[in-house]
Amino acid sequence: MSNIPEKMKALVAYAPGDYRLEMVPTPRATGDEVIIKVEGCGVCAGDVKAYHGAARFWGGEGNPPYIKAPVIPGHEFVGIVVEVGPDQKEFQVGDRVVSDQIVPCWECKFCKTGRYWMCQKHDVYGFQNNVNGGMAEYMRLPHGSLKYKVPKDLPVEKALLIEPYACSKHCVDRANIGNEDFVVLSGAGTLGLGMVGAIRKRNPATLVVLDMNNLRLQKAKEFGADIVLNPREVNVVEKIMEMTDGYGCDIYIEATGHPSSVKQGLEMIRKMGTFVEFSVFGELTTVDWSIISDTKELNLFGAHLSPYCYESVIKWIADGSLPTDGVVTHKFSLDDWKKAFEIAGSGADNSIKVAIIPGM
Ligand SMILES: [Zn+2]
Ligand SMILES: [Zn+2]
Repeated sequence: MSNIPEKMKALVAYAPGDYRLEMVPTPRATGDEVIIKVEGCGVCAGDVKAYHGAARFWGGEGNPPYIKAPVIPGHEFVGIVVEVGPDQKEFQVGDRVVSDQIVPCWECKFCKTGRYWMCQKHDVYGFQNNVNGGMAEYMRLPHGSLKYKVPKDLPVEKALLIEPYACSKHCVDRANIGNEDFVVLSGAGTLGLGMVGAIRKRNPATLVVLDMNNLRLQKAKEFGADIVLNPREVNVVEKIMEMTDGYGCDIYIEATGHPSSVKQGLEMIRKMGTFVEFSVFGELTTVDWSIISDTKELNLFGAHLSPYCYESVIKWIADGSLPTDGVVTHKFSLDDWKKAFEIAGSGADNSIKVAIIPGM
């Protein structure tokens, strides 16, 4: 396709705090690769934490470096195919696509046994420079990537939520919710709001959502939470104990990324309950670990990425059964990336999901 420009505008991450808007060579397709023109790319909490230099991403504090810089950030993208390699048989120019944020190696122990989301190599778009992300005008979906078609009439604000909502669904699947369960979800950011819809589909007896931000709580209510509580305003541990005859909640899903929410969850969960940890933390969490063993014999699960979730989530966002209205609150051009990161990081201006729209 000759109408692809030689160079494109892209945000390039060099080091913590050192992100630059540059003109870089536009990727081209070989083999079965696919090149998309990026319609939009959400700014994830992880992108903001990486920008601010979290050890989890750049190394230090016992972490190996995860980011391979210079890299173009962004894994919450959607785009239109503008070029396919000669071996690509499934996707064509003009298709609208998203891709699992991890590009599996298909050779490691995990990939070979169907657990590709825990791939040992762990190439995730926007963190390693062999799999550059969506904060650019164009982007390569490399060999081995998992791609899905997106209905063309789905507004971009909804299409941008496919990746985060797929992570929400996987996390909720880990909780294995039954229809007699009293569920507490801590955190009503984009991922939490995606979880509200996914939890509703499992029809629990009660869903309580906690957040410090009343506007987000209002949204959670609108999306299907039975009860919403603000830990700044009420003693949420006491409240949950009251509502459960002193037993505590059956299931606690942690989606805030704040250590205090972990501690609070361990306090309000019942004996033999299920605790699911979704978040990525910017600091270490200190709790009495013996609650998990001696006091409560808990089931403790982690949740990472969104294996086998995209197809359902695309369908459910499109048919409205996963509510999305008003989640994308802000859109910025690539030129205004700094403002986008600032607002996404601070939650200022009543923001929930902030997106970068390269064509803006
Ligand atoms: Zn993300
Ligand atoms: Zn692998």
